Amino acid sequence: MKIFTTRQEVAQYFTYKTGKTTGFVPTMGALHNGHISLIKQAQQVCTEVVCSIFVNPTQFNDPKDLEKYPRPIAADIAMLEQAGCDILFNPTVSEIYDDDEKWHLDIGNMEHLLEGKFRPGHYQGVMQVVNKLFNIVKPDMAFFGQKDYQQVMVITKMVELLNMPVKLVMCPIQRETDGLAMSSRNVHLTAYDREHALILSKTLGWIKEHFNVDSIPELQQQAEQMLNNEPGIIPEYFEIVDGDTLKPVTAATKKVVALVAARAGKTRLIDNMLIY
Ligand code: AMP
Repeated sequence: MKIFTTRQEVAQYFTYKTGKTTGFVPTMGALHNGHISLIKQAQQVCTEVVCSIFVNPTQFNDPKDLEKYPRPIAADIAMLEQAGCDILFNPTVSEIYDDDEKWHLDIGNMEHLLEGKFRPGHYQGVMQVVNKLFNIVKPDMAFFGQKDYQQVMVITKMVELLNMPVKLVMCPIQRETDGLAMSSRNVHLTAYDREHALILSKTLGWIKEHFNVDSIPELQQQAEQMLNNEPGIIPEYFEIVDGDTLKPVTAATKKVVALVAARAGKTRLIDNMLIY
């Protein structure tokens, strides 16, 4: 695997690219099988796969969260080598950002819903870095996890608004065998947190099972009760919404998604499930 740390190295490498389809998997590292599943999916449809590892400061609204974000770069490189990834782009913060750089793209209300309500500015930071990385790597296709469902919608909107020539692919959520969605933040869970964090996927599964039985307000209430009753869990939101708009379900809704965010001890976790 080639490892690049500067924009120039990436640009130079791609000068010689001929007839290859480049698949891109942007990550913040601390890789797990969820990330690797994106690499594998990219390998199936692209001739060359680029993964980036960059802990993007502009998308963190909590400085402590940024500081304690895991950065096991040697283990990450070993995992990417093992997965057969072709290129790793692992830049420093100053390689990506100038000191006084500003960014804002108006994508409407979507950035203020759900995650946006609890993490103000988060999606502006996400768009800022993904826009930069797309301009550097110039991928034909980019692969994102359904784990960050709203993020996929935000990036889709940005790509549309800026007419970016990249095809986005959303890949399924990878879970531990007991149902916990894989996440780089799971390493922070104590054994106690880990046990009780299972309520997120259990609640989503329960809602899916009962979708045609109970009404949405009833399901919503039931889900909130399940989360509230779980020791060590502090729910932030649980919403059952239209999967295309993230707004309330209407007669025109084609797909429904349930999304949840909660704190398990000191760790903030998110999860979601397509209900139909
Ligand atoms: P992150 O490193 O957390 O920024 O994630 C990088 C990419 O991996 C994003 O597109 C995530 O949605 C995706 N991802 C994270 N966790 C999972 C998972 N459990 N299953 C599938 N994709 C995931």
